Order: sequence, then structure tokens, then C-alpha cells
Amino acid sequence: MAEEKRFDIVIVGGGPGGLACGQYSARAGRKTALIEEMAPGGQTMIIDEIENYPGLGKVSGYEIGAKFEEQATGFGCQIFFGSVDGIERLEDGTFKVKTSDTDYCSPVVVIATGSKHRNLEVPGEKEFTGHGVSYCATCDGPFFKNRKILVCGGGDSACQESMYLRKLSDNVTITHRRDRFRAQASIVKAMTDAGIKTKMNTTVQSINGENGKVKSVTFLNKETGEVSTEEFDGVFIFVGNIPQSQLVPDCEKDGVGFIKTDSHMMTNIPGIFAVGDVRDTPFRQIVTAAADGAIAAHYASEYIDEINNNSY
Ligand code: NAP
Repeated sequence: MAEEKRFDIVIVGGGPGGLACGQYSARAGRKTALIEEMAPGGQTMIIDEIENYPGLGKVSGYEIGAKFEEQATGFGCQIFFGSVDGIERLEDGTFKVKTSDTDYCSPVVVIATGSKHRNLEVPGEKEFTGHGVSYCATCDGPFFKNRKILVCGGGDSACQESMYLRKLSDNVTITHRRDRFRAQASIVKAMTDAGIKTKMNTTVQSINGENGKVKSVTFLNKETGEVSTEEFDGVFIFVGNIPQSQLVPDCEKDGVGFIKTDSHMMTNIPGIFAVGDVRDTPFRQIVTAAADGAIAAHYASEYIDEINNNSY
């Protein structure tokens, strides 16, 4: 039988949103647990350099993730490693967050599970993942030093990661399905200044291989209808993210699965909050995830006071 542990607030996910929530909640004197599957820091851990987190200048993703963790645990947030199998609502309105060996019980659960990369869904993508196709520039970029690299996507991730790859190779091309990048203008400018080639209005038709690794990519130019094939050694795909919101099937979500919250970060289920990349929000940044976490901790604490007062 699983061991049972009681907390005021249980946070699921240890990215910037979850860790900031843990920090604020523990600092407010709430007994706080944070459950993380991998390493605390979330997706920051795979970002080469972050330059837009206010007050810190240029820092590595690893550094910022470690600082978030240090500050949260410094205030008493307890971090547990494990995979959450489900969240059960108990009759008294509190929750049981279940892992294989422990049930974490609390009146408040904060969903901070983030999102995972979306696939391009083209022939060859799955087959050559790990053999030339990658979703992480800092993890796999060094394998393609001085090689010919293609980046797919038009958002901040694609443009920013292409700049990291440009440090490793002077032959980096980015391809986007439209004639304008979605990324912030400052990132697009920096990317253009870095000498990254662009292939606009172009979709990837297939990733082709030879001897078990990527050899070339076939493109369709949407303006001219021309189909062409060009040789590449590495293909890095950044075409958006899919929210990891499956743990809370009853929470209201948008069409893609991002969890809807009010301005207090509370979902439609009293006691369940959502923060960071898993939340339905128009602008996803480390700073906005951290702000979500602080807001959720504040109102979660108020919520606990409210339910405690009502029970007398
Ligand atoms: P995103 O903003 O959702 O952009 C995804 C890109 O992929 C879009 O350009 C989209 O094209 C393209 N795309 C989607 N599906 C595609 C498909 N099937 N085939 C081809 N292209 C496809 O995702 P993201 O860049 O990963 O960013 C996620 C969030 O993190 C954003 O809120 C972003 O601002 C934030 N972020 C911020 C920073 C920073 O501030 N430094 C860095 C990284 C990420 P369309 O444009 O045509 O839709």
C-alpha cells in the first residue's frame, strides 16, 4: 500500500512555474510538496542561454533552473521525485496525488506540468529521430559541429535555437511554412544578423535517409509549387508544444488542451490551480511562468484560509 503524506499544497511539475509556486508557498508558511519526474528546472535545463529574464542579464538555462530550485528548497519546499499516476478528488473536497509508492494529500494541487514538443508529422521524422532528427539543440547540436543543419519552425524556439546551432556551424538554414516568422522581432533580427539562411513559405515534405541517418530533406515551395530536395546532416524541429494536461481531465481546457484558469490561476475545479506552459495564456516565458507560480501560491493560500474558516 502506498505511503500517505499530507501537505497544504502539492505542486506537480518542477519547471519555473512550479518552483516559483513552491518558493512563494513555502515562504508563506504552507507545507509544500513539489513532485517532479526528471530534474527540477523543466525546459530551462535544455536552453543554452537566457537573456530576457529581468535582473539576471545573460545566464545559462541550467544556471537559472538551479537557482529556482535552490530558492524554493531554501524556503522549505520539499521536492520529491516520481511520476504522478493520477489525481483523485476525495469526498471532503481535498485531493490525493498518486505516485507508485506515495499518495500526497492536500486541499490544493497546482498543475505545473508544462508542455512537450510537437512533431512535424512528416515521413522520415520518427525513423530518423536520434539519427539526425532532434528536438533539442543544446543536447544534440554538438553532434553536428561544422555540418549542414536545418531548423524547422517559425516561433521563438526555432529562431533562438538556430542561433545556438549557428555557433556550431556556419551552415544553418531555417525553414518556415509562412512568409513571416511568428517569433519576437528582436529574436528574428538577431537571427538574421547571425547569418542564418531562410527558406520561407516552404513546408517539409519528407526527411530522407541513407545508411540509417539523415541525408536530405524534400521541400515544397508553397508559392511556386516547386518540390526540391537538399542535403542536410541534421534536422532540428521546433514547431510548438503540446500541453501536458492529461492529469486533470475534468479541468476546462482550450481546443489544444491548455488549461483555462481565472486571474488567480484557479481552474474551474476549486482547489486545482494551473501555472506556466500548461496554462491557456497568450505569452509563454520563464518570467510569466514564474509570475503564474507566485500568483497561484498567493491565492492558494487564501483558498486554504477560506476553506478552513468555512469548516468551523
Ligand atoms: P510557437 O510559438 O507555438 O511556434 C511554433 C511554430 O511552429 C510556429 O511558427 C508555427 O507556424 C510552426 N508550426 C506549427 N506546426 C507546424 C507544422 N505542422 N509544420 C510546420 N510548422 C509548424 O512555439 P515555440 O516557438 O516553441 O514557443 C512556445 C512558447 O515559448 C511561445 O510562447 C514563445 O514565445 C515562448 N518562448 C520564448 C522564448 C524567448 O522569449 N526567448 C524562447 C522560446 C520560446 P505558424 O507561425 O505558421 O503558426
